[in-house]
Amino acid sequence: MNIHNTAEEKIIAKVTEIFEAIAAGGNAEGICTCDQCRLDTVCYVLNRTPPRYIVSNRGAARTETDPLVRQQEGADIVTLAHEGIKQISHNQRPHFSHRGAAGKAVQEEAQPVFNIPTIVGRMFNGLDFSPMSGIQVELRRGGELVVMKDYNWQNPCVLVPNTEGAFSFWPVPIPAQSGNLHENFEFTIKAEAPGFEDLNHFFQIPVISDSQFSNTFSMSRIVKLPDLYMFPPGGEDFQGV
Ligand SMILES: [Zn+2]
Repeated sequence: MNIHNTAEEKIIAKVTEIFEAIAAGGNAEGICTCDQCRLDTVCYVLNRTPPRYIVSNRGAARTETDPLVRQQEGADIVTLAHEGIKQISHNQRPHFSHRGAAGKAVQEEAQPVFNIPTIVGRMFNGLDFSPMSGIQVELRRGGELVVMKDYNWQNPCVLVPNTEGAFSFWPVPIPAQSGNLHENFEFTIKAEAPGFEDLNHFFQIPVISDSQFSNTFSMSRIVKLPDLYMFPPGGEDFQGV
């Protein structure tokens, strides 16, 4: 069984479509169309759109929604996407190369791999619910820092003030024996900040191996973590609920 947010697919498709249109139209405004800026835009919209969950065995299931509601949702996504593109283009992450598809860490090869989804989340101060900034967030697996898909992604990821506590990781694919294998991958989000207790958030991502490396952002999945909260030492322990 799979619980699936169909709003997510719609948002990825719409944002990809808008970025492709910008690129095809000559991009007079000089908007950065790299994968990181695309993902930041997807997250911007995702964090402002109500989720629409369905339960499915395969991705093909559909929700029965009033066409008028669906149309309105589509329009809202487009408005938010344009708003997000503007915001993100004016506040680009300074430590990313914004190199688009260039600078790949891994060659595209026809070998079976687990394409690990993009992992996104937000980190807040648990005392006043303000977004954390200026701190490093790490993605770890088996105690090690996870290698990212290309140089546009950084691990540790630094929380910058204008991204509202948002972090994102796109791990490099993991080699598989063959396609169609099911495996659970365990990860930890780790964050340290002066005056706060260390945060360790464990989670699992089930992945089915593919026959080849997927380098196309629009085809990739996104795993959105629950909002994470950091607290000073000695406080109550609740996070990510
Ligand atoms: Zn960029």
